[in-house]
Amino acid sequence: MKDGLSKEKQFEKIYDVVIVGAGPGGSACACFCAIKGLKTLLIDKQKFPREKICGDALSGKSIEVLNKLDLIPELEKQQHAYIKSIIFSGPNGKEIEISFEKEKGDYHGYCVKRTISDYVIFKKAKTLCDTMEETELIDLNYTNDYVELKCINKKDSKEINIKSNLVIGADGAYSLVAKKNNLHLIEYDHHCTALRTYYNNVKGNNNESAIELHFVDEAIPGYFWIFPVGNNEWNVGIGMITKDMQQKKANLKEIMMKVINSEKFRDRFKEAVMIDSIKGWTLPFGSKKRKLYAYRTMLVGDAAQLIDPFTGEGQGNALLSGLIAAEIAKKACEKNNFSEDFLKEYNEKIYEHLWKELNTSYQLQKMTRFKWLMNFVLTKANKSEKVRETITSMLSGRKPKNHLFNPLFYVELLFS
Ligand SMILES: Cc1cc2nc3c(=O)[nH]c(=O)nc-3n(C[C@H](O)[C@H](O)[C@H](O)COP(=O)(O)OP(=O)(O)OC[C@H]3O[C@@H](n4cnc5c(N)ncnc54)[C@H](O)[C@@H]3O)c2cc1C
Repeated sequence: MKDGLSKEKQFEKIYDVVIVGAGPGGSACACFCAIKGLKTLLIDKQKFPREKICGDALSGKSIEVLNKLDLIPELEKQQHAYIKSIIFSGPNGKEIEISFEKEKGDYHGYCVKRTISDYVIFKKAKTLCDTMEETELIDLNYTNDYVELKCINKKDSKEINIKSNLVIGADGAYSLVAKKNNLHLIEYDHHCTALRTYYNNVKGNNNESAIELHFVDEAIPGYFWIFPVGNNEWNVGIGMITKDMQQKKANLKEIMMKVINSEKFRDRFKEAVMIDSIKGWTLPFGSKKRKLYAYRTMLVGDAAQLIDPFTGEGQGNALLSGLIAAEIAKKACEKNNFSEDFLKEYNEKIYEHLWKELNTSYQLQKMTRFKWLMNFVLTKANKSEKVRETITSMLSGRKPKNHLFNPLFYVELLFS
C-alpha cells in the first residue's frame, strides 16, 4: 500500500498505455492501441454522452480514420447532415459555392453534433479496452519503471492511482498532461477563440448539405459559420484569432449577434429560434511546430495543438494523431523503450503527415487578412466557372493548395 491510501483507493494495475481524454483523438487512439493488442485504459473526467463545443463538421480526413474503425455506418444511423459543398463569402458579401460532387473519388463530409459523434467513437472504445468515466487526472508522477496517474473519481471523490508504461494526453486545449511536461505553451497569435450555438429554422441557400464559411469584416481572418446538423437544426458560430480579439478588445458575442442581424443574414434568421445558449471554447492552431512528446508521454489532438489554422478543423488531425500515437505506442511497448529519444519518432511522423498542409493553411490564413485580395478572388470566382473549378481543385487536393501563392494564378484571375 502506498501513500497511506486504503486498498480500495488503490488501482495498481499496470497498463501498457493510459489515454487521458475521450474526445475523438483519445477514443480513436484507445481503439487503435487495443486493436494492436496493447493493454489499454481510456479515462475521461466527464460522463458520456457529453457536450463538446464545436462546429460539428467532419471532413474527408476524419472519415478516412473513422472508416478504419468501421464507424461511418453507425454515424449515419444518427442525426446528421451529409455535406457535399462549401459556401464561402468574403468581406464584400460575394459568395461562391464549391461543390465536391464533380470530384473523382468520394470527397464529402458530415456534420454530426459532438454529443452524438464522440459517443459513437467512445462506445467503440468501450468494446475494445478498459474505460473509466468521471475520472479526472489531477497529477502525474514519472518513475524509472512507469508513469503513475493520480486521478479523482468524481462520483465519490475517491483517489485512484493508475500505473502505466505510457500516458497519452488527449485531454484537449488545456491539457494537464502537456502542462505537467512543460509542453503547453499558448501563443495567442496561433490560437483562436470561438462561440457557437444551435438554431432551428435557418433559411436560405435551400441547401442542407452545404457548410457556410463567411469571412465577415469584423472577424477576419476568422469567420462566421452556418453548418446544418440535420433535423432542421443548424450549428451557428464565429471564431477570431485570440490576439486580434485582445488587441481590438472585441466582444465576440456582440459581433456574432451583429452579423446575424446584418442585412446579409437578417432574413435568413427571421424565423430562426435559438435552441441552445451561446457557448465558447478555444482552438489551439497547428501553425507552429511544437514538441509533442516527453519521457513516457505523447500528446494527440488539441493537447498537441494540431487544429487547421485556416478552417478551424481539428477532429481530423485529432483522429489521425491518435492513430499515429497508437503505432508508436505499440513499437515502444515491443522494444520496452519509453525514452524521449525513442518517442521523438512520434513528432517526426506527425509533421511528416501534417506540416505541409498546416503550413499552407497558415499562409492562407495570413492571406485572408488582405481583405481586398479575398474580395477580388471571390468576386472573380463568383463570375467564372473556371476559377471556381481551380479553387475546388486546390481545396480538394487535386491541385496543390500552394498554387494559391503563385503570382501567375492572380495574373490569370485578372484576365479571366
Ligand atoms: C467553437 C469551435 C468550433 C469548432 N469547429 C470544428 C469543426 O467544425 N470541425 C472540426 O473538425 N473541428 C472543430 N473544432 C475543433 C475541435 O473541436 C477539436 O479540434 C477537437 O475536439 C479535438 O479533439 P480532442 O480529442 O483532441 O479533444 P477534445 O474533443 O477537447 O476532448 C478532450 C477530452 O478530454 C477530457 N479531459 C480534459 N481534461 C481531463 C482530465 N484532467 N482528466 C480526464 N479527462 C480530461 C475532456 O472531458 C474531453 O472529453 C472547433 C472547436 C471550437 C472550440
